[in-house]
Amino acid sequence: MTSLFEDEITLFADLILPVPVPRLFTYRVPRTMAEMIKVGARVIVQFGKNRVITAVVANVHSNPPAQYQAKYILELLDDEPIVTNHQLELFKWVSEYYLCNIGEVLNVAMPAGLKITSQSRIQHNPEFDYEELLTDQERYILDEIKKHATLSYEEVARLVNQTNITAIIKSLVGKHAVILFEEVKERYQPKVVKKIRLTAPFTSETSLMQLTSSLDKTPKQQDILMRYLSHVPVYNHTELNQKGLDKTIFSKDDGVSDSALQTLIKKGVFEQFEIIVSRFSDIPLGSSAEVNLSKSQQTAFEQIHQSFAEKEVVLLHGITGSGKTEVYIELIKQALEGGTQVLFLLPEIALTTQIVVRLRKVFGDQMGIYHSKFSDNERVEVWKGILDGKFQFVVGVRSAIFLPFDNLGLIIVDEEHETSYKQHDPAPRYHARDVAVIMAYMHKAKTLLGSATPSLESYFHARSGRYGLVEMTERFGNAALPSFLLVDTKKEKKQRTMKNEFSSVLLEHLESNLNNKEQTILFQNRRGYSPYMQCEECSWISECNNCDVSLTYHMKVRELRCHYCGHKEEVPRNCPACGSTRVKTVGYGTEKIEDELHLLLPSARVQRMDLDTTRAKNAYQQIIQEFEQGGTDILVGTQMVSKGLDFDNVSMVGIFDADRIIHFPEFRASERAFQMLTQVSGRAGRRSDKPGKVLIQTANPAQKILERIIQNDYVGMYEAEIVEREQFHYPPFTRLIKLTVKHIDEATSKRAATVLAEKLTVNLGKSRVLGPEPPLVERVRNQFLFDILIKLEREKINFKAAKSFIQEKVIDILTDKTIKGVHIVIDVDCV
Ligand code: ADP
Ligand code: ZN
Ligand code: ZN
Repeated sequence: MTSLFEDEITLFADLILPVPVPRLFTYRVPRTMAEMIKVGARVIVQFGKNRVITAVVANVHSNPPAQYQAKYILELLDDEPIVTNHQLELFKWVSEYYLCNIGEVLNVAMPAGLKITSQSRIQHNPEFDYEELLTDQERYILDEIKKHATLSYEEVARLVNQTNITAIIKSLVGKHAVILFEEVKERYQPKVVKKIRLTAPFTSETSLMQLTSSLDKTPKQQDILMRYLSHVPVYNHTELNQKGLDKTIFSKDDGVSDSALQTLIKKGVFEQFEIIVSRFSDIPLGSSAEVNLSKSQQTAFEQIHQSFAEKEVVLLHGITGSGKTEVYIELIKQALEGGTQVLFLLPEIALTTQIVVRLRKVFGDQMGIYHSKFSDNERVEVWKGILDGKFQFVVGVRSAIFLPFDNLGLIIVDEEHETSYKQHDPAPRYHARDVAVIMAYMHKAKTLLGSATPSLESYFHARSGRYGLVEMTERFGNAALPSFLLVDTKKEKKQRTMKNEFSSVLLEHLESNLNNKEQTILFQNRRGYSPYMQCEECSWISECNNCDVSLTYHMKVRELRCHYCGHKEEVPRNCPACGSTRVKTVGYGTEKIEDELHLLLPSARVQRMDLDTTRAKNAYQQIIQEFEQGGTDILVGTQMVSKGLDFDNVSMVGIFDADRIIHFPEFRASERAFQMLTQVSGRAGRRSDKPGKVLIQTANPAQKILERIIQNDYVGMYEAEIVEREQFHYPPFTRLIKLTVKHIDEATSKRAATVLAEKLTVNLGKSRVLGPEPPLVERVRNQFLFDILIKLEREKINFKAAKSFIQEKVIDILTDKTIKGVHIVIDVDCV
């Protein structure tokens, strides 16, 4: 029996607000909402003086907050939760582990389309009767506004046929002639397709016959009808008419048929209707040929299975071209048949391509795709599709781990060594692979990590028995790994046989590949034309005004650009320092290589793939497609060309500046070099009939790391590296936390960093706190940076306690009145 008193209880809700504040906020639930409000639903609340924002309910209870008077929730947006319990648990974990606010996690997790925005609307003020105050133009606009209940800015602009009405509206508001108010609006817009179909009276055979002959005198209309019937054979299947036909089919060719169609609609023969369609319907569905796993794939599949029986995480170490994807596909199928959801993570750039098309062929419409290049509407579609069960399987980039799963059975992290799984900015600075492992644990699901070149961390866990380990050591279909050729650039330079960046050996091979009509990939991990310009007289160097870094010369757009802050400048004709005209470019990036190829091999069809050529939504796909169809002979690119691409006809890969990669000043340099060079080499010779070759230009061919790459000796590299990691206390033996102190004044920045380091040293000890030290680029966007690196042993230290100590000390600095304006970035497990 419900008593009257129970109805009287006032409810409160703890809300996650998508803003960087440490705590949840408690709001009061209005009576009318009490019965409907659910954890995980979105609400609208006022935050601060005049901000209205979307928040998510984390808790409902009856305890008023002690510190403040709770405000009322303004609106409840969802009847059913839009954030699952699993997600709430995960968001909390991420915020605690990565030392950030849960609101920041929510903010990154939720597509903007699910966050409500408020839109200004305009209404005339009925009390206003001083029309003589208005200008003619204002009076004209006000008259239009009066004709409608309310209007948006855009609507007003359209009505009066002017683009810029802001100033006039402002003046009208000032004169109290109109009222502005905020309307809360859902940003997500479903994709709608206009269709047409025959109206009911014309679907019977007899009426259709009559109709056809009655149109004899209007051949255009008759043509429309015939075209409709050829797509939709209504004669035998009246139910087909129900689905109708895309209207665009008729409007494609000419305006004539469009007007004929309009006439038929007016006559009541056709009717128009709209349907909501999936935004992913463009990606070809196709039917997939039945694939039989090879023997080694089958073995790997079974071993993974056995391993999952006792381990939560399994590492699949399979060389490039071993056919890991097909193994994944079998595992995904199995998990889906078992009734659980599956998440397949891929690094950013690999996603738009081949692998997605391949997966879609197998999984069709039950597969959702979550990509950063997709619009917000598309992301909302995936989010909602998971909630209502449409997508049981999602393939996505790192942020896909925040999607509303409630029943995961398997997470696959392909290319698990990829650094793009780590988010740098803004917080949460999470590593999607590591979060995936935790998330799987929460769902009681399994995680499969896959790579040809695993991260040292993952391989270490596999060796120590924490993870299962399954290896694939052969390429699919007996294709051999490519053969390597090291080109000594020092020697060639001495003999003067280099043509700019191209050694004679590389050129020879490029030419013969071209003659054999085989394709080549050229790799240079630097974009732009040249990393800087320099004056030959006074050695002035082009530098960014905001950052301590040189400006890269981009030839095509004739600009100098900062790759750190985006600053752009015109290319100077003379040296800004001494006025000399002898300003030259130094060093080379992908743009220069492309440019030189046009001169050196004029007949070659060259394409470039880097950040600059792939900004547009489909640019990446187009470059890939053209290459795939043989329209390109040589593809020049940055890291983008090294990731997951699978082409039949690539028999050669050329690597320009291996030394710059190998000697990058960072403790992971060898691991990274091995991964990067092995991955890019792995694009060559993926078919058994065309053995591939890889040419590496280096000033020092005797380097051990090159030998390991050539021998495909991952284990050798691992064993050498792991010794050093242990000796110098680096991961996987320690966990790293990097604190970056920023301030516009160099001395203040340094002082804050020094004080912080001293405070940390007190408890953590000198050996665990390195720095402060300026990073490679000391100034970015006018802020001076100092890094403090904290190394915490995996075994001996209570990580959680250490982290909260660190956080406390950071807050000490941030709230120190003597050091104002300091920013501190905390990066847990920095990479
Ligand atoms: P990896 O990801 O391990 O580098 P892929 O999964 O891209 O390798 O496979 C390499 C190539 O071999 C692809 O072109 C793929 O289509 C082909 N392949 C792999 N397994 C099979 C199979 N069982 N049957 C037919 N083709 C396969
Ligand atoms: Zn000069
Ligand atoms: Zn800059």
